Amino acid sequence: MRKNIVAGNWKMNMDYEQGLSLFSEIVNMVKDEVRGEQEVVVCSPYIHLPALAKLSAGVTNVSIGSQNCHQAASGAYTGEISASQVKSTGATYIILGHSERRAYFGETDELLAAKVDAALGQQLKPIFCIGETKEEREAGDFFNLLKGQLNKGLFHLNEEQFRNVVIAYEPVWAIGTGLTASPEQAQEVHAFIRKTLAEQYGEAVANDTTILYGGSANPSNAESLFSQPDIDGGLIGGASLKSRDFLQIINVFN
Ligand code: PGA
Repeated sequence: MRKNIVAGNWKMNMDYEQGLSLFSEIVNMVKDEVRGEQEVVVCSPYIHLPALAKLSAGVTNVSIGSQNCHQAASGAYTGEISASQVKSTGATYIILGHSERRAYFGETDELLAAKVDAALGQQLKPIFCIGETKEEREAGDFFNLLKGQLNKGLFHLNEEQFRNVVIAYEPVWAIGTGLTASPEQAQEVHAFIRKTLAEQYGEAVANDTTILYGGSANPSNAESLFSQPDIDGGLIGGASLKSRDFLQIINVFN
């Protein structure tokens, strides 16, 4: 059975000490509660990762991840961080293909496929983001666009590799805008994603794949989103920066 995941994406927020104190609050609130198949993931800036790994050592339902990596193994890439360096901090997840990386840093589907390979080569689990802009949704054929993002970024993987991937559907028009997709809109796309995965990898793999919703998810809309049959949790930006809001979202599954 697939796992429910609530993942926080801190983006470029939180100084070192602020990040440690937010994460400590999250760990303290989450660690003693039984959550079955649920996992909480915090994707912080790189600078926090080693300290977060220490703070969550032995806490089985809280994991940490990065928000990017470079595709090369090592070498002369000033300012970059490799997948093996991310792994060496204790991180187990990595967000790849976020729309901000695609839009502001020119990350293409081909580059993302290489980053996915680099991450999986280090046993990091990609949280692979796909999503359409407002213009693409209004133009009509955005399902094909989403299929293309899956195809070019992920479908070179074999089944065994793909089983380590989490998908995040993040409509670009909903990210940081306060405009959430309605539960019906999100469910429609999640069902389409699962169908596309079934065509590529078969029903069993598709049913086992965690598909997260992201885009202005918050404590008031999380329940209606997560109760949809194909929505297995969320990738949470703004609301993951306040421990109380993040915990309320996590608690939807309890
Ligand atoms: P948001 O961001 O929750 O602030 O809309 C989500 C994301 O970009 O992952």
